[in-house]
Amino acid sequence: MQLREIGVPGWERVVEARDGEYHALIALHSTALGPAVGGTRLWRYDSVDDALRDVLRLSRGMTYKSALAGLDAGGGKSGILAPGRIADRAALFRAHGRAVEALGGAYVTADDVGTRAGDMDRIGEVTAHVVGLSARSGDPSPRTARGVFRAMIAAVRHRSGADGVRGLRVAVQGCGGVGRALVAELRAAGAEAVVADVDAARAQAVAAEFGAQVVDADAIHTVEADVFAPCALGGVLNADTIPALRAGIIAGGANNQLRDPEDGARLAERGILYVPDYVANAGGVITGVHELRGRPAAEAAARVEAIHDTVARVLRRAEDAGIPPHEAADQLAEERIAAARPA
Ligand code: NAD
Repeated sequence: MQLREIGVPGWERVVEARDGEYHALIALHSTALGPAVGGTRLWRYDSVDDALRDVLRLSRGMTYKSALAGLDAGGGKSGILAPGRIADRAALFRAHGRAVEALGGAYVTADDVGTRAGDMDRIGEVTAHVVGLSARSGDPSPRTARGVFRAMIAAVRHRSGADGVRGLRVAVQGCGGVGRALVAELRAAGAEAVVADVDAARAQAVAAEFGAQVVDADAIHTVEADVFAPCALGGVLNADTIPALRAGIIAGGANNQLRDPEDGARLAERGILYVPDYVANAGGVITGVHELRGRPAAEAAARVEAIHDTVARVLRRAEDAGIPPHEAADQLAEERIAAARPA
């Protein structure tokens, strides 16, 4: 295993790791509050620079997410540059596990885009610094969806004073792990759901299972609804889509929903209440960190429920300071990180 340090200002440590067909970048943005946690992405990156940009951006995001979720954890991320054809998937993830182990616990990994059931188990064969093992907390999507649901309740209360989502209409973009579980929560709470997925069969299956209306994937953001919940890709809130939105609140599970930072201001100008994505979708990392620390599942569940209170705090700060909610969230996270750092 070859480890090469890459000095990046603002990041505590960035490492390039290689071993045979295994080639990855691991970024530790901050360990001020605890070990840097963040998933492993397996992706056909165009170049090492492309992978570096991705892990830097994502690891920084994880620092903010962990801080605002009240966790004793920092932010990290790794990206494995997927070879054209993976000769031995188990060996690839065991090699990654050895790289993670070499960081001595400063970085703790989990699943992410491109990984699948069993990959974390292979990492777990060579290091203890991994969460999401199939024998432990497993798929985080239902916990993430629960947190998004709690975030939505807080946003609805902030906007209208209403208690709950009964009778409200929610447009859910993406019917994967998070979207499907969110629709289940919404229907159980008496909300109406409108769903879409680029995989039409998935949308149909969720609609049939829980009772929901299906619309075209390219029209879901234009649906007349009380809440729009992006649960698919990043960058869905942008200069092209924002003028077409017809929901008063945005609360969803997707990462990096704003394409550009100005998009947060664009939403505010239109009077649309945006729940910052990383506050709403912290359910997965909360569960992972509790698994890592060996804390009871009930404690993790209580912290996921408390996403409601964090969202309420963010929205209040935004209103009081006259700033968009994503800026208020960043401020609250930065205050917590700064308080943890020695002067
Ligand atoms: P997933 O892959 O299970 O589901 C995503 C779904 O979105 C798929 O069904 C896909 O077909 C659909 N989709 C893709 N592009 C679309 C489009 N343009 N319009 C409509 N549908 C589209 O992923 P997931 O685990 O449900 O995660 C969803 C989002 O939430 C991602 O952005 C992910 O990074 C984020 N997230 C997930 C978790 C988690 O616990 N799984 C935690 C935090 C954040």
